[in-house]
Amino acid sequence: MAKIGETQYIWKDGAFIDWKDANVHVLAHSVQFGSAVFEGIRCYATPKGPAIFRLREHLKRMLNSCKIYRMPVPYSLDELVEANRALVRKNGIDACYLRPMVIRGYGAAGMVPFDSPVEVYLPCWPWGAYLGADALEKGVDACVASWNRVAPNTIPAIAKIAGNYLSGQLIKMEALQNGFDEAIALGPDGMVSEGSGQNVFVVDGGVLYTPPIDGTLLPGITRSSVLAIAEDLGLKHVVQPLAREVLYTCDELFVCGTASEITPVRSVDRLPVGDGKVGPVTRALQTRFLDIVNGRTEDTHGWLTFVR
Ligand code: PMP
Repeated sequence: MAKIGETQYIWKDGAFIDWKDANVHVLAHSVQFGSAVFEGIRCYATPKGPAIFRLREHLKRMLNSCKIYRMPVPYSLDELVEANRALVRKNGIDACYLRPMVIRGYGAAGMVPFDSPVEVYLPCWPWGAYLGADALEKGVDACVASWNRVAPNTIPAIAKIAGNYLSGQLIKMEALQNGFDEAIALGPDGMVSEGSGQNVFVVDGGVLYTPPIDGTLLPGITRSSVLAIAEDLGLKHVVQPLAREVLYTCDELFVCGTASEITPVRSVDRLPVGDGKVGPVTRALQTRFLDIVNGRTEDTHGWLTFVR
């Protein structure tokens, strides 16, 4: 599992502070009650210098998460874009992972958060493969989680906020302790929802499928990129609910997310997916995705924000 590799500076509320000074009180509202909105964004080393993948979309999702939780953020989208670019420059790194956070700090005594200040932190650090060094190449072994995802209109699944990740932790720990690399969770209706930190795609009969944004899963930015690339490649793609057993019978399966990028799944609950090898559609989508993010092919969608 990946440990955080430190960089020198973190942006906090408009200024750079030392990594070691980015501390919060144990009674900060976010620590007690899980109210830390965050994002996870990759910056890639391209031939034209470091480039952040879909920075605006990530920050927009962050501001939407804050809106749902009534957290006023005193920075505009443009200001946050510039602050993240400055952060990577200031730390003098190229490929890295950015983790913008909007937290409720120390102040409120109880659950009602309004007496806690809203604080914005922008850290980044170097981070390599998430699901293992050869996961992109060979794929991973997954299970179906015994834990379901949250039900719609309970805890909003489209908000990326710390408290939601209690669900992901249960799902992922169970998978690892049972000898799997990752788990796919079902929604409360028993239909496929998402992985602990990834969206799910199935390929069957040459058609690409993924579940809809149904209130049980995070609308992944990689998910939307995969759908756009499928369109570019002329691949038929359908957003529709998927029954659990489709995971066992489909030709190809993959999970996708910022950390996992496009990771093939080679087995589910010990049943091989297709012939157990990475399929051609998964490989074609993955190759095009990795070529775009690494600046090896034209960025026709304008997904890269260059840092310098
Ligand atoms: N679902 C969950 C629960 C996640 O944590 C993530 C990672 N942010 C994703 C899906 C994929 O989202 P994205 O592609 O925007 O990283």
